[in-house]
Amino acid sequence: VLNRDLVGQRSETVRRANLSAIVRELHARGPLSRSELVARTGLTRSAIRALIGEFVADGLVVERTPPLVGVPGRPSPVVRVQPEGVVVLALEVAIDSLAAAAVGLGGVVIEERRVARPRGHFTLDEIVADLVELTGGLASFARTRDSIIGVGVAVCGVVNRADGRVATAPNLGWTNLPLGARLEEALALHVPISLANEADLGALAELRRGAARGADDVIYISGEFGVGGGIIVGGQPLTGAAGYAGEIGHMSVNPNGTRCPCGAVGCWETEVGERALLALAGRSPEGGIAEVDAVIADATAGSETALAALESVGRWLGLGIASLVNILNPRRIVLGGLFGRIYPFVSTTLDAELHRLALEAPRSLVQVVPATLGIDAPLLGAAELAFEPFLSDPAASFGPRIAERRVVA
Ligand SMILES: [Zn+2]
Repeated sequence: VLNRDLVGQRSETVRRANLSAIVRELHARGPLSRSELVARTGLTRSAIRALIGEFVADGLVVERTPPLVGVPGRPSPVVRVQPEGVVVLALEVAIDSLAAAAVGLGGVVIEERRVARPRGHFTLDEIVADLVELTGGLASFARTRDSIIGVGVAVCGVVNRADGRVATAPNLGWTNLPLGARLEEALALHVPISLANEADLGALAELRRGAARGADDVIYISGEFGVGGGIIVGGQPLTGAAGYAGEIGHMSVNPNGTRCPCGAVGCWETEVGERALLALAGRSPEGGIAEVDAVIADATAGSETALAALESVGRWLGLGIASLVNILNPRRIVLGGLFGRIYPFVSTTLDAELHRLALEAPRSLVQVVPATLGIDAPLLGAAELAFEPFLSDPAASFGPRIAERRVVA
């Protein structure tokens, strides 16, 4: 290999890394002036101008020079992404619902559809057919189809990220099913498809666009029918060897406790999950969201039974969170789903337990906050997952598609 070829390869690698740095900033932060991009990426003014020019030519971003408003000097052009220039399809299989969304660059939700799903067991065929139908029902799907560069799927189960198989999803009655491969075939979009656990993706969404923004060490704890967790360490998701990490709902907390759907006894979710709350409040443990709403309404009205049930959940929440704080030294703990909703009722008890049980050094650094993205967090996280290959190397994921389209046109 000649020396100048090596130099050429290196400069191509640098160019692609720089394109990635720019598109990541614009995706995460929204419109930025060229000057802000210079400051944030450390690239020179002329490099930014040239690289932005490539994105403009590809229809990925637009530049607009703001009007002069009596300040000296020429204002720096503002660069913003074109949300429909690069689109991902985000899907979610949740305990109570199925959802599909077209999400544009910058995290712009172009369109979303969510339908209620009765709890219980469904076959892989049924879920795949429902997701394909939901996707086809997106009015924007036909319009944005050619811009779709990836599919992300959030699943209420334990997911093997490498092969897209759902290792186990007790709520669906699934063991080791190839959801990724089946969806890829049924959707026929010919783009990469990535799957992950819904709490892991809720964590990613809260990190990028919600209550965990600006923190690099985060634990997202989501209470639904079960209890899920997503852990971010040093800005990166903690996946474990196969993507199974973060099953904090099955952290063993009470050897004298009750049996968990996973088969063990005394898992954390048997003390803090929806069924525990409903049973403590004297309601049917299988009553679902309507009964949870009723407990919250009772507590708001001052019912002692409801308040005592919430107090118990708050104590067990504090106990589990104290262990997590001691082990992982997070900067922020984000409470999603059920825990976000009951936070106003449990925060005092939870804080007291944290003070009683956690080591002072890590405790003094942690902030416990309710989630801000609500029910959509896992779906938005699925979109972020699908954007990831593009953000890492926009030239590789987008260049060839643009070239193809130009040939077709
Ligand atoms: Zn369990």
